[in-house]
Amino acid sequence: MAAPRNMLTSRLARAQQATRIAALDVLLVTPGPDLRYLLGVAGGSYERLTCLVLPADGDPVLVVPTLERPRLDTTPVPGLGLEIAEWADGDDPYALVADLLHRSRSAPARAAVGDAMPAAHVLALRAALPACEQELASTVLRQLRMRKDSAEIAALAAAGQAIDRVHARMGEWLRVGRTEAQVGADVAAAIVAEGHTAAAFVTVGAGPHGASPHHDVSDRVIQPGDVVVVDIGGPTPEGYFSDCTRTYSLGEPAEADVITCYAVLHAAQDAAVAAVAPGMTAEQVDAAARIPITDAGLGELFIHRTGHGIGLEVHEEPYIVTGNDLVLEVGMAFSIEPGIYLSGRWGARIEDIVVVNDSGATRLNHRPRELAVLPV
Ligand code: ZN
Ligand code: ZN
Ligand code: ZN
Repeated sequence: MAAPRNMLTSRLARAQQATRIAALDVLLVTPGPDLRYLLGVAGGSYERLTCLVLPADGDPVLVVPTLERPRLDTTPVPGLGLEIAEWADGDDPYALVADLLHRSRSAPARAAVGDAMPAAHVLALRAALPACEQELASTVLRQLRMRKDSAEIAALAAAGQAIDRVHARMGEWLRVGRTEAQVGADVAAAIVAEGHTAAAFVTVGAGPHGASPHHDVSDRVIQPGDVVVVDIGGPTPEGYFSDCTRTYSLGEPAEADVITCYAVLHAAQDAAVAAVAPGMTAEQVDAAARIPITDAGLGELFIHRTGHGIGLEVHEEPYIVTGNDLVLEVGMAFSIEPGIYLSGRWGARIEDIVVVNDSGATRLNHRPRELAVLPV
């Protein structure tokens, strides 16, 4: 299920308007999250050029290899009334893009290219349009993609419910005597079974491995008293990601300082969520998470930013980080995931996705945030 046609039409119109306001002549977008956002077309970029040519003025054109043209019939593209320009193997698709741009106006001076466009396409487009300066499309698209519309918020909420169902079942798999990798394989299967198209990442960090924020899994055997960080997520069929961390303990934690430190972390996560509101800045939310941890003398142990935007990518803008004075607006979606990491011993993190609403934040994850003690 892609976004409804009228939403895609409105996104295209807003992207075109933003292109014009930025004094760019054209936006060039190859397959990836940006194209999925604008046209509802999934998939990645390959060596054959597929490219949305969205001029600041005039009608958009989708350049597509002839052999991939039939695939578009299964996407929202036919309903968008978009001109399609096919090219066959042996043709020069970059010259085709240049021709399309020269058709209705003098040579373009400034083009925005998608941030993740493969360099092979970027350089070939530069050669075909030698007088055209290239810039990153995020200057135009970040403003759009950061503010989620109702279809996107619904998709993120569904992703949150799906990953919550996986965390709810953690006791089935997370047991003493099993390895992190065995647990991770079961969790990955459950991520798919509960409504994702893939398990994009599975961190099962037991004991000292919990102190490595992006640990994945290993052959470490889970011990009684281990504290285990489980950070999991993936894309739903709509392409929107889940991302949720809970911290578990196998029986009473073996390390003496877990309970007191975890209580500080829990308070910090709540404080950061409470700080989210339109008009607050990203760095103010980061500071709200950091203050309780620093006040408890644990500030050095919180070694990463508080969160990241999420949508068609797991990590996208806005980043909830010191130095980011971006003002939060209704519809922005991001993680709130403070953590504390005691090198060589244990770690803990609590992560929820939130969406900025009229007066605060709506959480999209609802599993209990207390240290989840599993039976040994
Ligand atoms: Zn991360
Ligand atoms: Zn995250
Ligand atoms: Zn995460």
